[in-house]
Amino acid sequence: MAAAETDREVPSALCSEFLQFSAKDTAAKWLQANDLPKEVYQHLARYVPKIYCLGPNLNPQSEDLLAQLLLQAPLEWYLCGEEPSTGLAKLEQNNQPSQLCGHVFKVGEPTYSCRECAADPTCVLCMQCFLGSVHKEHRYRMTTSGGGGFCDCGDTEAWKKGPYCQKHEPNISDSLQEDPLANLSADMIARTYNIFSIILKYAVDMLTWDKEDELPQGLEPPERGDTYYCMLFNDEVHTYEQVIYTLQKAVNCTQKEAVSFATTVDRDGRKSVRFGDFQFCEQAKSVIVRNTSRQTKPLRVQVMHSSVVAHQCFALKALAWLGHIIRYSDALRRILCQVGLQKGPEGENSSLVDTLMLCDSKMWKGARNVYHQLFMSSLLMDLKYKKLFAIQFAKNYERLQSDYVKDDHDREFSITDLSVQMFTVPSLARMLITEENLMTTIIRTFVDHLRHRDLQGRFQFERYTAQQAFKFRRVQSLIGDLKYVLISCPTEWTDKLREKFLEGLDGFLELLKCMQGMDPVVRQVGQHIEMEPEWEAAFTLQMKLTHIISMMQEWCASDERVLIEAYKKCLTALTHCHSGFTDGEQPITLSMCGHSVDTIRYCVSQEKVSIHLPVSRLLAGLHVLLSKTEVAYRFPEQLPLSELSPPMLIEHPLRCLVLCAQVHAGMWRRNGFSLVNQIYYYHNVKCRVEMFDKDLMMLQAGASMMDPNHFLMIVLSRFELFHIFSSADCRKRYNRENANKDVVQQNSTLIEEMLHLIMMVVGERFASGIGQVENSDELKREIVHQLCIRPMAHSELVKALPENENKETGMERVIDSVASFKKPGVTGRGLYELRPECAKQFNLYFYHYSRADQSKAEEAQRKLKRQNGEDSALPPPALPPFCPLFASLVNILQCDVLLGMLGAVLQWAVEPSGGHWSESMLQRVLHLIGMALLEEQQQLESSCEDNEVTFNFTLKISRPGEAPSNTPSVLALLETLQNAPHLEVHKDIIRWILKMVVNIKTMRERTAAAPSPEGSGHCQEETVRDKDKAERKRKAEMARLRREKIMAQMSEMQRHFINENKELFQQSLEELDASTSTSQDHSPSSWDSALVCVGPRRWRAGGGERRQVVTCILCQEEQEIRSDGRAMVLAAFVQRSTVMSKNRRRPPHNPESYDPLFMHPDLSFGTHTGSCGHIMHSHCWQRYFEAVQAKEQRRQQRLRVHTSYDVENGEFLCPLCECLSNTVIPLLPLAKTSCSEQPGLSQWLNTTSQQIKTLHAAHRKAKSATAGETQTLEDSPPPEGFRLDHTPVNPYSSSIKEMLTTFGTATYKVGLKVHPNEQDPRVPIMCWGSCAYTIQSIERLLVDEEKPLFGSLPCRQDDCLSSLARFGSACWTVSCLSTVQTHFIRLLAALVPNPQVENSPCLLDVDMFHLLVSLVLSYSAVHCLDSSGLSVDAAQLHFFHLVTVAHLVQILLTSVPVELTMDQESGGVEREEEEGVCLFYNILKTHLGSSLPEMSSGWHLWRCVKASILPYLRGAALFFHHLNGVPTPPELHALGAGEWEALCTYLCLPSNLLQLYYNYQDVLKPLVKGWCSHPGMRQCLQSPETLISFPRESNKLIELPEDYSALINQASSFTCPKSGGDKSRAPTLCLVCGTMLCSQSYCCQTELEGEDVGACTAHTFACGAGVGLFLRVRESQVLLLAGKTKGCFYAPPYLDDYGETDQGLRRGNPLHLCRERYRKIQKLWRQHSITEEIGHAQEANQTLVGIDWQHL
Ligand SMILES: [Zn+2]
Ligand SMILES: [Zn+2]
Ligand SMILES: [Zn+2]
Ligand SMILES: [Zn+2]
Ligand SMILES: [Zn+2]
Ligand SMILES: [Zn+2]
Ligand SMILES: [Zn+2]
Repeated sequence: MAAAETDREVPSALCSEFLQFSAKDTAAKWLQANDLPKEVYQHLARYVPKIYCLGPNLNPQSEDLLAQLLLQAPLEWYLCGEEPSTGLAKLEQNNQPSQLCGHVFKVGEPTYSCRECAADPTCVLCMQCFLGSVHKEHRYRMTTSGGGGFCDCGDTEAWKKGPYCQKHEPNISDSLQEDPLANLSADMIARTYNIFSIILKYAVDMLTWDKEDELPQGLEPPERGDTYYCMLFNDEVHTYEQVIYTLQKAVNCTQKEAVSFATTVDRDGRKSVRFGDFQFCEQAKSVIVRNTSRQTKPLRVQVMHSSVVAHQCFALKALAWLGHIIRYSDALRRILCQVGLQKGPEGENSSLVDTLMLCDSKMWKGARNVYHQLFMSSLLMDLKYKKLFAIQFAKNYERLQSDYVKDDHDREFSITDLSVQMFTVPSLARMLITEENLMTTIIRTFVDHLRHRDLQGRFQFERYTAQQAFKFRRVQSLIGDLKYVLISCPTEWTDKLREKFLEGLDGFLELLKCMQGMDPVVRQVGQHIEMEPEWEAAFTLQMKLTHIISMMQEWCASDERVLIEAYKKCLTALTHCHSGFTDGEQPITLSMCGHSVDTIRYCVSQEKVSIHLPVSRLLAGLHVLLSKTEVAYRFPEQLPLSELSPPMLIEHPLRCLVLCAQVHAGMWRRNGFSLVNQIYYYHNVKCRVEMFDKDLMMLQAGASMMDPNHFLMIVLSRFELFHIFSSADCRKRYNRENANKDVVQQNSTLIEEMLHLIMMVVGERFASGIGQVENSDELKREIVHQLCIRPMAHSELVKALPENENKETGMERVIDSVASFKKPGVTGRGLYELRPECAKQFNLYFYHYSRADQSKAEEAQRKLKRQNGEDSALPPPALPPFCPLFASLVNILQCDVLLGMLGAVLQWAVEPSGGHWSESMLQRVLHLIGMALLEEQQQLESSCEDNEVTFNFTLKISRPGEAPSNTPSVLALLETLQNAPHLEVHKDIIRWILKMVVNIKTMRERTAAAPSPEGSGHCQEETVRDKDKAERKRKAEMARLRREKIMAQMSEMQRHFINENKELFQQSLEELDASTSTSQDHSPSSWDSALVCVGPRRWRAGGGERRQVVTCILCQEEQEIRSDGRAMVLAAFVQRSTVMSKNRRRPPHNPESYDPLFMHPDLSFGTHTGSCGHIMHSHCWQRYFEAVQAKEQRRQQRLRVHTSYDVENGEFLCPLCECLSNTVIPLLPLAKTSCSEQPGLSQWLNTTSQQIKTLHAAHRKAKSATAGETQTLEDSPPPEGFRLDHTPVNPYSSSIKEMLTTFGTATYKVGLKVHPNEQDPRVPIMCWGSCAYTIQSIERLLVDEEKPLFGSLPCRQDDCLSSLARFGSACWTVSCLSTVQTHFIRLLAALVPNPQVENSPCLLDVDMFHLLVSLVLSYSAVHCLDSSGLSVDAAQLHFFHLVTVAHLVQILLTSVPVELTMDQESGGVEREEEEGVCLFYNILKTHLGSSLPEMSSGWHLWRCVKASILPYLRGAALFFHHLNGVPTPPELHALGAGEWEALCTYLCLPSNLLQLYYNYQDVLKPLVKGWCSHPGMRQCLQSPETLISFPRESNKLIELPEDYSALINQASSFTCPKSGGDKSRAPTLCLVCGTMLCSQSYCCQTELEGEDVGACTAHTFACGAGVGLFLRVRESQVLLLAGKTKGCFYAPPYLDDYGETDQGLRRGNPLHLCRERYRKIQKLWRQHSITEEIGHAQEANQTLVGIDWQHL
C-alpha cells in the first residue's frame, strides 16, 4: 500500500496525535480495565469520527489505513496478548481447516453441479473443487452464479457420491472431531469472548441504528460540528434515468457525477450526495423528495450527522474484520458463533444474530451484504452452530418472510435467501420439521399472505392490484423454501416425523382446498365477454406447486403408514369440498341398451366449471400409489370409499375434460383467450403431470370401480351426447334430425373427443401403478412418440418432456434404447432419430399429442410405412397389462353401451348420403375396435389351458344389433365398409381388423379343439399377405416407369432448346470471359509463353476489339460496355477496415487533416470495397434509389421504424439479392494501347523527370498567378512531344462521368468518415487505396483458404476487382488534372528523389503495393499530355520494377531473422541467386553499417526474400490481370510448386529478382543509397518493435479455450475498469483483439461523436473501424456490431455434446469449442462480410432492428 502517499493527505493537526498513538499501550490499558465495554466505546467514540467522514469526498484508502492503525490494531493486540502477526500465526497453526470449501461465489462465476450425484440442483461446486472432483467425469451441469451462495464441497449430505475434492478430502487422523476450543488457553478464550461481544454488539447497534442525529450511549463524540450528509437510499421503484435526472437538479452536479452517484446507490444501497451544514443538506433532500414523489413513493433520503455515518462506516469495517480474524482459527470462529447466538437480556430471540436478522429489511444493501457474508463464513461453516442458527432462523421464519414481502429489495439481498443453505441439508430439514414444525410454518405463512378469497373461501385473484401482484410474486419464494425442505425424500421415518409431516400435509390440504374450484368459468352465450378475466395468477400458483405436489406424493409413497393416512386425509378434504359443490343438482336416471344408472342433472355448457381441482388430483395420485403397494388388497377396509361413490370421484375431473372437448368444438369461443390459454396450460408439459394426467387417472380409478356401462352413460351425459346415442333409432335419427349445421359440427367434434377419451381411459397404462410397467417405460414411450413426429435435437426433447423437481427428465438413461444420435455439420444441430424397431410402439392417439402433433406424426408414420413398402394402416400398438386394481377397465371395450356406439358410427359411415359423420370419428371407432381385438388376442395368448378367457369381443361384434332389431352386426358393417369407395384411406386398417378377427377366431378354435396342425387361418393370412405384396410391387413398378418417362421427356426438351439456341449459348460464353476470369478465357496453349500481364510485351486480345455485353437486373435490357455508352454499374459496399491491421494501437487519424497518399505498411486502416456482382443501368439504379429514399421518408414520417439500412447515408439493398450496398461502381471497357519501341529504364526516368520538372514549374506558375505574384522562374524546356497546353479529351459519356464521381465521392466519404466533397484532392487517393487494399485482402483470403490465385474467386469478386482497377485508372478524368499530377509527382519522389518535393517518407514507412497501385493509376494524368509515343505499358513495367526493388530493400532491412539453420549448399541456378542476394545485402550493409545484422548464408537470405515478397507479387498479378485484362496461365490456377516461376513470367520479371537490380545498376545504385540515407531510416531500424516484417501474417481471431467454463471463469474475475473493482454485469470479449469489456452498463458508457455509446460500440471504433465481433460470455452468444445502429446476434462456436449451442446458458450442459464453426466466423470477418451478415439478419428478423445496439 502506498502509505507515504496517504499519510500526506491526513490533516496535519491530527497527524501528531495519530503518530503518538500506540496500539500496544491501548490494549494494555484495556487489559487492566474494569469496564471493558465502556473503555472500548470511549476509544471508538474518540477516534471513529476523526477517521471517517471528514468531508464531501470520502477517501477510503486513507480511512482504511487509519482504521487499521488506530482501531483494529488495538483490538488485535488485546485479542492476541502479543504482537498480532505472531499471535495470529500461532492461531493459524492450530487451526483445523473446515472440511467445507465454503468458497462464496462472485456474480458470474461458474458453478458446477453433478447431475448424477448432487442431492439436489442447489448443490454446487466451485471451479477449483470441481476440477479436483470425481464429477468431472460424470454428466455435469454448468451455470453462472448470480452471486451469494457457496461451494458445497465437503458437505457429505449434498452429494450421493464423491463429496470431497482432492483438496478437501479429510485427513483420516483429523477426522476425530474434537472441540476446537481445546487448543486455546482459557485466557485467550476469555479475551476473545470479551472483544468479540463488544465489537459485534457495537456493529449490530450501529447498523440497526435509526436515529439520524444521535448516537447510542457511550458513543457520543467529544466535540460535534454542524456537518451532515444528505444520504440517498436505493429502491427498486425508480429507474436509473429518474435518479440521475433528479440528482442533477437537486445537488447541481454534472451528468457524469449523477451517473456515478446512481451507480453507487444501486450497488451499495446508499450514497451521500451532499456534505455540508444541516440547512444545506435539508434543502437537497426536499428537492429530491419533491421531484420523485409524483407518481410513486419518493426516493428515500436522510440527512444524517457525520458522526453517525462515520460509526456506521466503521461498523461495516468491524464486521469485515471479524470475518477476517476468524479465518485464522476454527476456535475463534466458534467463539464468534457463540457470541452471536447468545441470548440477550430480552430473552428468547434476542441474540445479536436474531437482532440483525429481524432488522434485515430496514438495512441498506451494503450493510446486508456484509453481515450476510459474515454469517456465511461463521455460522454456516461450523456444523454445530449451523444447526443452532437454523433453529433460530426457523423460529423467526414467519417474521422474516413477512418483512421480506414488504421489503422492496430483491431476494438476493434478503436474509431469507439463506434458507437454501439450511433447508436443503436433509438432516437439518428433517430436524426442523420435527423440532420446529417447519413444514407447517412455511405453509401457514404462505396461506396467511394470500388473503383474497371468495365466499366459499377459495383464492380469488380477480381484480387484484399491482401491489398485491407484487406481494404475490414475493410470497412465491415460500414455495421455493417448501421445495427445499421436501427435496430429499426420507429413507427412514420416525413417529415424530410422521406426525409432523402429516400435520404439514393437513396444512397443505387446506391450501389445496382454497384452490379446488377457483377461477370457475361459465359459458358465454350471445355476446362476447367484455373483459378477459385474470387467470395467470391461479396458474402461476398451480405451476409453482406442481413439484411440491409431486414431492408430497413421493414422501407418502416411501412409507405405507403415511400413505394410508394421507389418503384418508385427502379423501376427507375432497368430501369437504364436495359438500359445498353439489347443491341444487337434481338426481336423474339414465337408461340405455338395457342398463340404467342414477346421476345428477348437470351441463358443463350451462353451469360453473373450474379447471383447478388439486385435491381430486392429489387423491388420484395417491390412489395409484396405493395400487402399487398392494396395500389395497391386504387391508381393503382401509379404503373408506363409501363416503364418496365412484361417480362422485370422477365428477369434477370429467367436467374438466368435457370443458376441454367443448372448447375444441368451438362452443366457448365467446369466452375469449383466457380460457384458451388455460386449456393450453392444462395440457402443457409444465402442468399436465398434476392436471390433465391426474384427471385421467381419476377417471380410470373411478371407472375401474364402476359398471362400464354406467361409466359410459355418465360420460355420454356429461358430453351432452346421451340423447343422440340413447334413442332407439340412433343409427338413423342422427342424420335426419339436426338441420343446424353448427350443432352438427359441434356434436361431431364432441363425439370424436369422447371416443378419444374412452381410448385413453382404456389404453393409457404406462404409469406404474396403473399398468404393469417400469418407471422408465413411461419415459421411453414419451420419447418414442416425440420422435415419431420428427427427429429432434436434445434440447427440443427436453422441452417436450416433464422435468422433475431436480430439473431432470431422466431422458439420458433411456434415450439410447429408443433413438440413435446424428451429429451436426457446420450449421444446424445434432438430432435424435427413432430406432426403426420402435416405430411399432406408435399410437396415433397418444394422449399427450396436440392435434397438430397428431397430424404431423400420422403423416410422418404413413410416409415411413410407404417407404418401407408396407401398407399404410396405423393400428393401435400392443399394450402392457393393467395392475389388478385397474384390471376391470378393459371391460369398457366390450360393454353393451360401447358396442352400441360403435355400431351407430359404423352405420352412419355406411350410409353414403348421410353427411353428418366425420372421417376422424370413424378412424377412432376403428382404432377402438383394434384395441379390443388386440386385448382379446393378448389375453388368449397369455391364458393357460384351463383358464377361460372371458373377454370375447369377436363374439359380441358378430351378433346383430339389438335396437332396432336385425340391424347388421359390427362385423358385417365392417365388411360392407371394406368395399365402400368413399373410404379409400381407411381400407388398410379395416383389412387389418378383419384379419385380426380371423386370427382370433382361429386361436379360439385351436384352444377349444384339440391342438390342430398349422392353423388354416395362418395359411390364409399368409396368402393374403403375399397377394398384398404382389399388388404393391406392381404399383411401385408402374410408378417407376412413369417417372422415367417424364424424365426422358424433360431432358429431350432441354436438348432441343440448346440446339435451337446454340448460337446464343456460344455467344454468351464468349462474353462471359470479359467479365469473369476463368481458365476458359485464354484459348490456344501456344499463347501460354506470351502470357505476360504488364509491360510492352504484354498479351493483347487478337483480332479486333472484344465486345462486352451485360444485362441490367432492373429493366432486363442488354447493354454493351463502351466508354461512350450508357453507364452500367455494379452495386457495391465500401467500408473502413482494420482486418489486416498490424497495429491496433495506432490512434485513428484526424479525418480532416489526414493525408492518405502513403499507406503505412502496418495497414492499420484501409478502405475495402465489395460487391454482390449485380449490374444495373446507372439511370435504372438512380430511379430505384430515389424510390427507396422516398419510401423511407414516408415511412419515417408515419412511424419511427428503423430499417436494416441507412438511406440517409446512401445505403440501399441490392434490388436482386438484398445485399447491403452503399454505392455503385461503374463498369468500364479495357483501355486501348498500342506498342512500339520503348526506352529503357534510365532513359525513361530521364524523360519522366523532365516532364515532372515542366509540370512542377507550370503548377508553381499557376499558383503564383492566382496569388497575384509575378515571379520569374527558370523554365526548363519540356521534353519532346510533351505539351502542357494540350487538353486531353475525356473519352467517357456524361453518365459514366457522373458514376465516376459518385463512386469516388462515396469511397472518400466512407473511407475518411467525412462529409462528401467531390472537389477534395484526396478523392482519387482514396480510390486507389481502396483498390490496393481490396486486392491485398483478397490475396490474403486466398492464402488462408488455401485456394489458387486465379480461378477460385466467385465471379462477383472478379467483377468487382476489374471494375475497381479500371475505375482507378479512369478516375483522374473527373478530378482536377493538376491535383492528380501533384499526387503522382509526390508518389514518384518517394522512390526517385526530387529536390522539389519535401517530406518524402522513409522507405520503411510505405506499403509498396499501395505505392505501386497509386503510381500506375495516377500516371495517366501525366501521360495524357504526351504525344511522343511513350507507352503506358512501358511506364507500368518501369514502375513495377522500381517498386519491386524498393520492396526487396524493405524486406532485407526488416524481415531477415537471425539465421538458425546451418548453411545449406545448393547448386546451379539457386546458387547464383544466393550469391546475388548476399552481395546486395552487403551493399545495404555498407550504407547502414551496424544497424543490420551480419548475414553469411545466401540460402537463408534468398529463402526469406522469396517468402516475404510473394504476397506482393501475387497482389501485383491480380492487379495487372484485372487492369489489363490479360488471361492467366494455368499454373496459377492450381496450388503447387510452379507458382514462383509462373508468377515471374506472368509479371515479366526475371525469376532471380536480384537481376532487376544488377540490370539497371547505373540508375538503381544511387537510388538505393538515397533510400538508405533517408533521415527516418536509422530511427525506424532502431525501434524494431514497431517495424513491420514481411510477409505479414494474416490476422486471426483470438484463440478461444476448448472448455467454455474457462471463459466464464475468466469473465467472472473481470472487473469493470471504470467503477473500481466492481463486477461487470455483461463481460464481453472482443474476438479480434481479446480485450474484455464491460458491456451494456452505464458505468462504461462513453461519448462518441456526441452520443453516449456502450463499451462495445466504443471499442469497435478503436479496434475495428466501426465493425466488431464479440463474445458475450454470460450469454454464450456472438455479437456482431457495425456502426452505431446495426447489430445482430450470431450462434457461438461452442457446442454441447448433443451438437447444440446454448445461447443464454440456460441448459447448462458442458460446452466445447467447435473449431469449424469458429473458422466460419473468422472467415466472415476476414471477408469483410460482418455488415452484410447483420443486414441479412435484420431483414430476416425485424425485432433486431429495434434494439439499441449502441448501448451494448
Ligand atoms: Zn470449492
Ligand atoms: Zn473442494
Ligand atoms: Zn458425480
Ligand atoms: Zn436498366
Ligand atoms: Zn445483388
Ligand atoms: Zn478489439
Ligand atoms: Zn463498467
